[in-house]
Amino acid sequence: MCGIVGYIGKKNCVPIIIEGLKRLEYRGYDSAGVGVIAGDDITVVKRKGKVTELQNAVTEQNVTGNVGIGHTRWATHGEPNEINAHPHYNQDRSLIVIHNGIIENYNSLKTGLKNIGYEFRSDTDTEVFAHLIDSFIRRGYDVSKSVRLALNEIDGTYGLAVMYAKEPDKIVVARQGSPLVMGIGDNENFIASDVSALIAYTKQIVYFEDGEIAEVYADHFVTKTIHDKEIEKIATEVNLTVDEIDKGGYDTFMMKEIMEQPDSCTNSMRGRLVFDEGTAKLGGLTDVVEKLLDCKRFLISACGTSWHAGLVGEYLFEHYLRIPTEVEYASEFRYRNPIIYPDDAVFFISQSGETADSLAALREAKRKGALCLGICNVVGSSIARESHAGVYTHAGPEIGVASTKAFTSQLIVLGLITLLLARRKSMSIAEGKEIVHAYQELPHKIAEILKLNKSIEEIAEQFKNANNFLYLGRGAHFPVALEGALKLKEISYIHAEGYPAAEMKHGPIALVDENMPVVFIAPKDSTYEKIVSNIEEIRARKGKVIAIATENDTEIDRLADHVIKIPNSARMTMPILTAIPLQLLAYHIAVKKGLNVDQPRNLAKSVTVE
Ligand code: GLU
Repeated sequence: MCGIVGYIGKKNCVPIIIEGLKRLEYRGYDSAGVGVIAGDDITVVKRKGKVTELQNAVTEQNVTGNVGIGHTRWATHGEPNEINAHPHYNQDRSLIVIHNGIIENYNSLKTGLKNIGYEFRSDTDTEVFAHLIDSFIRRGYDVSKSVRLALNEIDGTYGLAVMYAKEPDKIVVARQGSPLVMGIGDNENFIASDVSALIAYTKQIVYFEDGEIAEVYADHFVTKTIHDKEIEKIATEVNLTVDEIDKGGYDTFMMKEIMEQPDSCTNSMRGRLVFDEGTAKLGGLTDVVEKLLDCKRFLISACGTSWHAGLVGEYLFEHYLRIPTEVEYASEFRYRNPIIYPDDAVFFISQSGETADSLAALREAKRKGALCLGICNVVGSSIARESHAGVYTHAGPEIGVASTKAFTSQLIVLGLITLLLARRKSMSIAEGKEIVHAYQELPHKIAEILKLNKSIEEIAEQFKNANNFLYLGRGAHFPVALEGALKLKEISYIHAEGYPAAEMKHGPIALVDENMPVVFIAPKDSTYEKIVSNIEEIRARKGKVIAIATENDTEIDRLADHVIKIPNSARMTMPILTAIPLQLLAYHIAVKKGLNVDQPRNLAKSVTVE
């Protein structure tokens, strides 16, 4: 998920790697490290925090060499600290590994390796690679073959680079689900997880594909498939600017993050769906599942977008678990001397895991003896550390201030928690399997919705000058309406409000005239007929209706001025799908108004003050 840079040639690799890592800093990371072949040894320097700290350390220790690899880590397994930072050594420190991604089956592999005498120094999944590759080297294979054999045992994603002191003429790299490229120089080669780290040095780039593994020497490279079939790769010349490349070819981080949602959602589910049993597996909850099943009440405390995710959670928990759930703004919760019973569990949702109000609310709930659970994106963050248990969203770093992919990943995690507990309670295996299937289909359906980008942009064009917007939805789509309104407010500065659709008659309908766009979240579900009546009421007052509807719905075409049709899915997963067109709508309106969507005025990414 984070950064890889490597060099093999005649120059000192250290400044090249440090510069490359700095180019990848915008992605967000928590620690950095570099490993360099020096004589018969490999020197590794790692630091928690910024690349500049790593730079100071390598300068101080005068680390130099012609072959090296460096990494910025965005922790997924194990806290962000110096020990968990990459590279990771094998047992005799002759081999190092850096890795982006997640090894799903790391636990069973780790147990197997421990049983044959390997000692682990870190809490990461990545360290499994180092020892697993070592176990093949010990059987007499060279490093490339050992990497290949190891990869055959790995489930998960990786962008991987390996260096072995006894074969110092090469770096072995591999890719599965996490980007990896090579830059070709003059008797020197570069590797990186992202072209932007390399274009200061070369424009000749080789893009590796999933399932490929390459030996990179100073003057040539050899690519094979993971099944040992040699393939020819051709370099292409890149002409993009650094800025364009940072944003993955998109104009903004926000658009990149919206478009990334098929992948970020896949990552949130990775290794967590159990198909045969129609349930979810969440390692972070293993120790507390029995307690959670005995809880009489759930509380959810959060701020902003995470609070909206919490409201969706309330609908899920109450519908599928029949556990009364209350959702409260963390800022209110912390100061109102909350009532907490011994059989309550409190969930704290925060992308950064550092949100000041949520953290203070967590501490207060802990003081009162509640079971506290964190749902965070940033591994090792304060909320994650201080909670009794929790589930990471694994959406990857989110740079755009207005949250998009972190929100959909929060909804996935809340759904998976619901599924896990519901299957232990009254949900049948058949229903569980249907839901698991719906989750499996989700990335594909999100990709379908993202294809509507152009048509949503056209709708945005018509409404960019509106002064007010209403967003209406029912059930779990009411919080999605709130989130849609918040997105629009945050980045376009247009006043917008979200309401449960039926509430409209109790006040907001007074605002409706021919200048008022009203966004209805109207999928075909049990409240569809009711929402159709609400649409009629808006039409009767000449309001402009934009409807998010399910693809087989033809009735809605005659009712709404604009219809955005999305695929249908299981009830639990539907709010994830309805949220996405609203992100795109807010985005395009803001861009058309000429606003900076990545850094909207007055807002900060991680609100670490009250
Ligand atoms: N899963 C690995 C870890 O937690 C790699 C994280 C990354 O992609 O930076 O160490």
